[in-house]
Amino acid sequence: MFNLKHFFGRPPETAPPGQLAASYLVSCDRRRFKADAFLDQLLADALHWNATDIHVIPESEHVSVRLRIDGALRNFLLLQPLQGRFLVGRLKVVGELDVLNTFSPQDGAGRLEIAGEVVAFRVSIMPVRAYSGSQERAILRLFRRRNFDLKGLGMDNATLQQWKSLLTEPQGMLVLTGPANSGKTTTIYSSLLEIQHRSRGERNIATIEDPVEFAVPGLSQSQVNPGDGFGFTEALRAMMRQDPQVIMIGEIRDGETAKIAVEAGLTGHLVLTTVHSKQVTGVFPRLLSLGVGAVRAASAILAVLNQRLLRLNCPFCAQPYLPAEEMLGSLPRKINENAQFMRGAGCDFCRGTGFYGRGIVNELLVVNAEMRSAVCTGALSQDLYARAIDSGMRTIWQSAMEAVLSGRAPLEQAIETIGPE
Ligand SMILES: [Zn+2]
Repeated sequence: MFNLKHFFGRPPETAPPGQLAASYLVSCDRRRFKADAFLDQLLADALHWNATDIHVIPESEHVSVRLRIDGALRNFLLLQPLQGRFLVGRLKVVGELDVLNTFSPQDGAGRLEIAGEVVAFRVSIMPVRAYSGSQERAILRLFRRRNFDLKGLGMDNATLQQWKSLLTEPQGMLVLTGPANSGKTTTIYSSLLEIQHRSRGERNIATIEDPVEFAVPGLSQSQVNPGDGFGFTEALRAMMRQDPQVIMIGEIRDGETAKIAVEAGLTGHLVLTTVHSKQVTGVFPRLLSLGVGAVRAASAILAVLNQRLLRLNCPFCAQPYLPAEEMLGSLPRKINENAQFMRGAGCDFCRGTGFYGRGIVNELLVVNAEMRSAVCTGALSQDLYARAIDSGMRTIWQSAMEAVLSGRAPLEQAIETIGPE
């Protein structure tokens, strides 16, 4: 049965207080709408729902306010066009932008104190042509102070232990892969802090990022600025002169960065980075296509971690259900007939969605001698993947099925997140 122990992070004690911003709208006369008070309420709601973004989108007759929660955009409330304008004006004030400029895009950033918590934000404003005339669309991204704790990410214990032992390696590359919004940055920051903690600050850690997503206390983070000739390559070259032992490179996108990163991994540095690839083994062909020699790539890479964030069932309304026949039929392996599938029915706590929070599902490829020689012969990603399974790698699909069969996530969500096996 569903177990709260499986519920990652913040176990809720009370039901949510409801929508502050919506009750503000009801309580205020339309003409006495105060954008600053409304924004305060809206931000309090956003924090309450753990939203990462607030979207203010002019539509036909309204301005729609949406929150991004657990990666999914949800309608929150509708404003009158004039209220929408006031709200965007207020966002410009807090983002230190030009309030009078309504005709060109603007980007700002700052900090706000909401219910005693200081939250950093970025705001982006874009003029649009809406039904109600010229309007502006605003996207606010919130960055809350977080604890980057490897244990708290919700990795299964076996993978966590393997990953932690890889973090003690003196040299080589640890590569993360997975699409955007799969939690890679959080895993990397948590890993760096783990290294720092384990070495009692004796390993010199430096990062190169584009952009620095979170300023993490205790890390020395550099942000590239390609427009000013300070791209990943230049930053990496400069950093190598600063005697780092552990290097984090936000992402490897070009050949020059790839070559320097591999070189660093082969010459006494532990390199943590992300490489875009659909499959855990796709990282090798990707680096080869960027001009890294197969032997060098195979020698430098210690392991590749491929991960996704899977939306989890709401703990208050999850109940047994039977997935559709075609869903079950699409599974490559026969599922135990006694398997108990669970799905959230929707309640006040989860705003009727049936979901609350996300957990990590992953696969960790530790490169062994056999894998190394297969990479050296230029084997394709599919072939490498089959070898990885033969040598005992638990696939991301199996990881997702573990979440499904323990009642943490519905089958349909797992298939949507991972794709067919
Ligand atoms: Zn619920």
